[in-house]
Amino acid sequence: MRVCLLASGSRGNSTLIEVDGCRLLIDAGLSGVETERRLASINLNCDDLHAILVTHEHSDHVSGIGPLARRHKLPVYIDHKTHAALPKLGKIAELQHFSAGDTFPLRELQISSFSTTHDAVNPVGFTIESTEGKVGFATDLGMPTRLVAEQLKQCRVLVLEANHDEQMLQEGPYPWNLKQRIRSRHGHLSNIESCSLLEQICWPGLEAVFLAHLSEENNCPKLAKQSFVDLMQTCGQDVEIIVGSQNQASFCFAVDKP
Ligand SMILES: [Zn+2]
Ligand SMILES: [Zn+2]
Repeated sequence: MRVCLLASGSRGNSTLIEVDGCRLLIDAGLSGVETERRLASINLNCDDLHAILVTHEHSDHVSGIGPLARRHKLPVYIDHKTHAALPKLGKIAELQHFSAGDTFPLRELQISSFSTTHDAVNPVGFTIESTEGKVGFATDLGMPTRLVAEQLKQCRVLVLEANHDEQMLQEGPYPWNLKQRIRSRHGHLSNIESCSLLEQICWPGLEAVFLAHLSEENNCPKLAKQSFVDLMQTCGQDVEIIVGSQNQASFCFAVDKP
């Protein structure tokens, strides 16, 4: 099992998850060329991929999907309404529609989608289950609902949104209405909200947590990481905390078969 945030933040999001020999991208918000470059940094290329899963239609998550899917003949798994909200996606040879909340097979894997309250037409997070265990993916959350916490239980690896530090957002340069949007039930999770979500779903089998979608203006990677490290220490757990970055692929976390 391998997980790597190829890019994370408001200028582009894409995550590689490899389980049971199946290599998925969750979202493709980088150009095809940049996706290829970042995959190369972990010794992969786009032709090694098997599918793209889409969380929601915001451009920082989808701008590379059309070119990548066409060039590398990749199936795209996308919610019906999200697809309808992407008129410029272009023709995709193998579109696999689902509805938010569906569970579906993908090769040997079982993928579950679950709704989030982010301000998109039908946004989702995912869990990916296989004989190697479960991976949970939840960014652009809006708010940490009970449904999200329930879905993310018992993962070996988690990708969690840690968008902003509340004080930095409050005191930062954003206009008031944008600050309100980010803080709202339909915006993004703060470090504190994300920590309290993790506190609910932490269990002895958890090995790594990726912090994703950090704001470059309203968060600080060191600060965010420290709050999660402190939380894991309080819980008495040895969990690797990896912070995603906008400009380069993150550390690639690999775990052996259980
Ligand atoms: Zn979004
Ligand atoms: Zn986003």
